[in-house]
Amino acid sequence: MAVFCQHCGTALPPGARFCSGCGAAIPATYPMPGRPLTRPRAGRQIAGVCLALARANGWDVAVVRIVAVLGLCFSCGFVGIAYLAGWIGIPEEPDNLPGAYPPVI
Ligand SMILES: [Zn+2]
Repeated sequence: MAVFCQHCGTALPPGARFCSGCGAAIPATYPMPGRPLTRPRAGRQIAGVCLALARANGWDVAVVRIVAVLGLCFSCGFVGIAYLAGWIGIPEEPDNLPGAYPPVI
């Protein structure tokens, strides 16, 4: 994500602490809460959709799974279709095998 000086508008590299144009201090940027929406490989039950939603939004995965199962029973299949859409649409977390480059943390 590009960072711009709030005083002069100069484009700055990510992580810059001072503006190269005017020398103004750049306030620290904090990462977005939660994680990117990816289906984790570890800890999943079926396809990892509930776990992905829980991790991305900071929810409890058990609550998400209970809501998903209850929704599957009482939504005339809508939650099932939404789960399949998440299975197809949410990208799988990159594997973290040793030797994989670049290493993903
Ligand atoms: Zn500046």
